[in-house]
Amino acid sequence: MQTLPRSRFLLAATMACFAAPCQAGPPHVHGQATLDVVIEPRSLTLRLAMPQDSLLGHERRPLTAAEQQAAAAVLQQLRDGARLFTLPADRGCKLAGVEIEAPRLQPGAAAAGASGHADVDATYRFDCARTDGLRSVDVGGLFDAFTRLQQLRAQVASADGQHQARVKRPARALAWGR
Ligand SMILES: [Zn+2]
Repeated sequence: MQTLPRSRFLLAATMACFAAPCQAGPPHVHGQATLDVVIEPRSLTLRLAMPQDSLLGHERRPLTAAEQQAAAAVLQQLRDGARLFTLPADRGCKLAGVEIEAPRLQPGAAAAGASGHADVDATYRFDCARTDGLRSVDVGGLFDAFTRLQQLRAQVASADGQHQARVKRPARALAWGR
């Protein structure tokens, strides 16, 4: 049996990454987003990952002025976490921080990996008065903003354990642990 030298193996792996979705995290499925929900006693962190296609209908860099404008508009929408996610009012949650990683949309982003699929990641941190017993997040605002998005798969980590959850249009509530 012949083994591939390590450098050849790495090259093959790298090329596979250009040809197909390649990431350690969730699979890249058009129309589908993943959400990691981390619940702490006084905060909630939501890590959203979705194909750029779900935002714009393409995964390349914006070319025309109109495409650049559309990209700027979706980045702005993506930043508005308080509109995308609605938390139960009695928890007293306030959006405390947003980080967006959109390699092909942000000005000055590295040109690396400028072909093939592209994901957009966004992390939202909410500070809350309390989060105990939190069992759902309304993601209707996300569906309203990004009409190509069909469903959301979530992993939830909280003091009472790990849960998986899923919400598909036209439903709006991501619920777990019931
Ligand atoms: Zn794609």
